Amino acid sequence: MSASAPVLEPGATIGILGSGQLGRMLALAAARLGFKCHIFAPDPDSPAFDVVHRVTCADYTDTRALDRFAADVDVVTYEFENVPAETAMFLAARVPVLPDPQVLATTQDRLAEKTFVSGLGVRTAPYAAVAQPAELAAALGRIGRPAVLKTRRFGYDGKGQATIGNGTDPEAAWREVGGQPCILEAFVPFAREVSVVAARGHDGGIACFDVTENEHRDHILKISRVPAALSDAGAAQARRIAETIAQKFAYVGVLAVEMFVLRDGDELLVNEIAPRVHNSGHWTLDGASVSQFEQHIRAVAGWPLAKPVRRGRVEMVNLIGNEVEDYRSWLTVPGAAVHLYGKAAVRPGRKMGHVTRVFADEGAHDATNGSD
Ligand code: AMP
Repeated sequence: MSASAPVLEPGATIGILGSGQLGRMLALAAARLGFKCHIFAPDPDSPAFDVVHRVTCADYTDTRALDRFAADVDVVTYEFENVPAETAMFLAARVPVLPDPQVLATTQDRLAEKTFVSGLGVRTAPYAAVAQPAELAAALGRIGRPAVLKTRRFGYDGKGQATIGNGTDPEAAWREVGGQPCILEAFVPFAREVSVVAARGHDGGIACFDVTENEHRDHILKISRVPAALSDAGAAQARRIAETIAQKFAYVGVLAVEMFVLRDGDELLVNEIAPRVHNSGHWTLDGASVSQFEQHIRAVAGWPLAKPVRRGRVEMVNLIGNEVEDYRSWLTVPGAAVHLYGKAAVRPGRKMGHVTRVFADEGAHDATNGSD
């Protein structure tokens, strides 16, 4: 349905599946361009509900609610890749859904995702499918130790994964991830983690933001820094990988590709594709001439993409759990922009907000594809 998706006029309504901070920031960007948003999500405690004109709080399998939602919106997109693919397909029969639901089916399953990426000739960590515990020994024989066992579905922020070192009992790792179909990956001795946030428009044009370097704590993104410490050739290669993936999916919208940079240079391995706006792109709200959220809204509305220009060196720090209580001290830091997600309950590991710092005197950069 994406090929026939209309070009929206201001005043049109964009439907968003999912209601976390990503949906909230998408809705704010949409409002700035004159669009309305209708959010569909099952959880009444939803940061995105506070900033839109209409919400549907219902289960993703509630076909009557989905029917009403489809009738109210001009296009549907998502902020969350674990929306059931059937929900996206159901809606796609009624209203344009962007990016195409087929992308969800691939990226929701780590095995399908890795097979897709390898099929493009792009490197990933060596991997093997493990459908049941009896297959673990053979997979470990092929992949070696240390290795990382990950559930094929519903993993995020390190959930659903266990490292198998020399002393680890594989059966214990299998139990730790909940005894579900998995993939086993070689542990990558990476020097750094980077990501590319890329937008692809209706017309097939692609605009990448600058490669971002990401530092995780307890498997959760803590700090993003732009530009990443990569050579020009490494950064160009990272952008090319994201472009190749976006083209192959005939993607419309923003996606993020997470990559490992190997110790011995600029060699890149793809870890994961997020078919949505991404935490490592939050810096663009303050650090670039267009944000990842606006690019996504432009793409799904059939509008031309902007050419992002970075405003200098940028750092983004996530406020996780009770770190959000420090928000007042950030308010007076020169150059800092504070973003709070309006979440009532503070829980360990919960992303409550973020702070962006732009160091404008350290070089603005024309962050477009043409910079290769
Ligand atoms: P993921 O859920 O796949 O994004 O993994 C979360 C984090 O775990 C990554 O950002 C890495 O820091 C780490 N990680 C995941 N897979 C591997 C791997 N194969 N080798 C080394 N570290 C990994």
